[in-house]
Formats: sequence, structure tokens, C-alpha cells
Amino acid sequence: MKLQFIGGASTVTGSCFYLQTNNMKFLVDCGMHQGNGADEMNRRPLAVPLEEIEFILVTHAHMDHSGLLPRVVRDGFKGRIITTQATRDLLEPMLYDSAAIQESDAAWETKKGMRLGKEPVEPLYTSEDVTSILPRFDLKPYNKVFHLGNGVKCRFIDAGHILGSASLEIWFQDSAKEKKIVFSGDIGKSGSPIIKDPSTASDADYVVMESTYGNRTHRPIEESINELVDAIKTTFKRGGNVYIPSFAVGRAQDLLFIINDLVRTGRLYKIDVYLDSPLAEEVTRVYASHPECFDAEAKELFSARERDYSMRLHFVRTVEESMRLNSLRGGSIIIAGSGMCDGGRIKHHLKHNIWRHDCGVIFVGYQAKHTLGRRIVDGARTVNILGEEVMVKAAIHTINGFSAHADRNELLAWLTAIDKSPKVFIVHGEDASADALKELIKARLGLDAHRPKDDEVVEL
Ligand SMILES: [Zn+2]
Ligand SMILES: [Zn+2]
Repeated sequence: MKLQFIGGASTVTGSCFYLQTNNMKFLVDCGMHQGNGADEMNRRPLAVPLEEIEFILVTHAHMDHSGLLPRVVRDGFKGRIITTQATRDLLEPMLYDSAAIQESDAAWETKKGMRLGKEPVEPLYTSEDVTSILPRFDLKPYNKVFHLGNGVKCRFIDAGHILGSASLEIWFQDSAKEKKIVFSGDIGKSGSPIIKDPSTASDADYVVMESTYGNRTHRPIEESINELVDAIKTTFKRGGNVYIPSFAVGRAQDLLFIINDLVRTGRLYKIDVYLDSPLAEEVTRVYASHPECFDAEAKELFSARERDYSMRLHFVRTVEESMRLNSLRGGSIIIAGSGMCDGGRIKHHLKHNIWRHDCGVIFVGYQAKHTLGRRIVDGARTVNILGEEVMVKAAIHTINGFSAHADRNELLAWLTAIDKSPKVFIVHGEDASADALKELIKARLGLDAHRPKDDEVVEL
């Protein structure tokens, strides 16, 4: 078997792996590149014979693992897309949302380019492309081995990262002997609010594992919840609103769950929570329709008796409804995307409220360099939002314990549980975290660990 690291080897986005046995070709993940130079990389033809690929196994619905599926289908991939039911249900609204962004970006670039006599810009893919991939899905339950032909077998196990997320165990037979490779996908954190804790593979000859937080440890979630309560209470005491920039998938649902539980248990009074993101609303409904993925605590909370939210939850759909939130003076929580404030409705809320000293902004996720979120977190006195300089007078809180990724110790524990001393390929991490994890794996577990480069091919 040959394994080629097509994308996501030396960065955290664009995950894609190409596997070839003597008589079978398939991909694991088909992710979109994000960040600097991403558009050009997403448009580059995938360096694999798409017509000959039999299937694509998808670990989870985050766009950096699945966002290029419509493009590869349009470019000639004819096979099945194999994943879990929950991942497929999340992918439908997420890919349509992604296509809408592609279409509006292309329209804007075209308009800009026309003034310079340039050719129109085609969207990376369209909503029609998304529609055309929906019949391709082949859904598999967790924990069942299924045969893919030519001696290849696979099993999805719960990765505990977002709803439907999986690690993959793949058996293959090239020579007489059967071997096994495990793809970690993105590994979740134990004790996260809604979904189950990550499970581990029993054994493996090879492991391809993520290293997002290979050099960091997270604080316990209880501490983060206490910080959240403090930040909300002090803001409400000053008479303002709380604004929380959040990703639509995973983080937003965890927050709703946590805030609801805080109200239910009396740590917060009955409050109005506005989820100002149509995508986050759809994703929240998909979450609610998959109780089989919940841990015991979440199952109880989502059960028929408890289904009514203890907080007053409002889904905000139209732009007009979103604008009306500007008239709320205090006592409400507004959750809106994007998570790093570089797009989405949160920008409007910040423009109208970040200059108010009585308001609070709570950051619950990673803020990448060069984003509006990062400038605010770094303490900027004024920021430019939608073309206007605005003073930062609101209280700014940063709470880091809500990550959906395993930290260094949890990554090591996940790997330690796998028998047979596998060879480890470390992917999906910035240099510092991937290198740190590699050294830890060698020193603590005595395993052979390697950091492949993008496009590198290894023989298994
Ligand atoms: Zn992910
Ligand atoms: Zn990822």
C-alpha cells in the first residue's frame, strides 16, 4: 500500500490522504485549505486520478476535512462518499453555506475585476455542485467493520470531536499479510459537554494522527465555565449585553448547552440568548436530531421532559431581525459568527456595541493572526470594523477551555491505548505543536514518529 499526504500534512487545514493498494485507490478526507493563499490551493487540481478513485472516507464535517467534496465530484470523481449519518446531516447545510460564500466571493471578485477588464471569476463550486453530491453518500454506523472489496475493510469509531466525528481503522492486504492503518481524524476532548468522549483503536501497524495542540495543555472545563459565569454576571451588573463570537458548528452548540445548564441549575437567571446565525441554527437542529451521539448527561437534558430550553433561546434568521438586536440595551447574550470576527454578523454587533463600556465580549476560541478577533484580544484601543474606526471600551474576556481538540496529554493517552507499537505519522499541526508531539511520542512511548511533508509518498 502507498500512502500519499496530499494536504494537511504540515498545516492544520486541507486534510487529504491518498491510499493505493495493488487494486484499489481511495481517499481519506477531502478538506478545504483556509487562511493565507488558500483560494489558490483550493483551485489547484488534486494530484490524484479522480476517475479511478473508488471512494472517499470522511472523518467529520468540518470544512478543512470535507469542504472540497463538491469540487472533486465536479472534476470527475464517480465513487461513493462514505461517512456517518450525523456527518452527512451536518455536511448538507454546511456545504450549501460554503457554496453560497464561494458564489458571493466570486461575484464580488468579478465585479471588482470588470473595472480592470478582467475575465469573470468562477466560484470554486456552486450550490448545484453540492446538490449533485448528496446521492453519493454511503452511511455507516460506528463500531461495525464493513468490507470495501479487494481485501480492504474499515471501521468508524467515535472521535468525540464534533457530532458524527470519527477516527478510522482501515485493514488492507497487499502481500499475504493483513495490516492495519488508523487515521485519528480530529480527536476531541474528554468531558466535552454534548458528545461522547473519544474512543481509541485497539491496535495498529500505522497511525496518522493530528497534532493541533501537540504542545499545549487545556485547563479543565469547570474552570472555564466559572470564568464564563463571572464574565456574564459582571457584564449584566454594568447593564450591558454579552457578545460571543463563535463558530457555527460544535462550539455554538456547546455554549448553548452550557448556558442552558447554568440557568437550569440556578447559577444564572433566566436570560435571553440570541443565536444570530442561520447556519448555527440548522446545525443545532441536526445536533438535536442525533441523541445517539450524546453522552449520558446530554441525553438526559435533551430528553422529552427537558427539551424546553431553560434559557429563552431565540433563533435570529433574517438580516432585519439581526439589526433589531441593536436596540437591546442590556441583559442579553448574543452569539454570532464568525468565530474570529473576520466575517459574519458579529462584525455588525461589535461595530454597534464594542464602544459601550457596559458591554462585554467573550472570546471562546482560537484567534488567528491578522484577524479582527486577534486585534481585540491583543488589546487594541481602537479597531476598524466595516470601514469605521471604533473605540474598544467593552470588557474583553478570553476563555480558552472550550476547545474541541484533545490537548497534548490527551493525544498521548489516545496513542498509548493503541497496541502493537505502530509507526506514527504526525499531521494537522503547525510546526511547533507537531514537532513537540513528535519528540514526546519518541521520548515517552519509544515509537517511530515521522512528520511527512505535503505530497510525500510512503510505502506501508
Ligand atoms: Zn475538526
Ligand atoms: Zn481539523
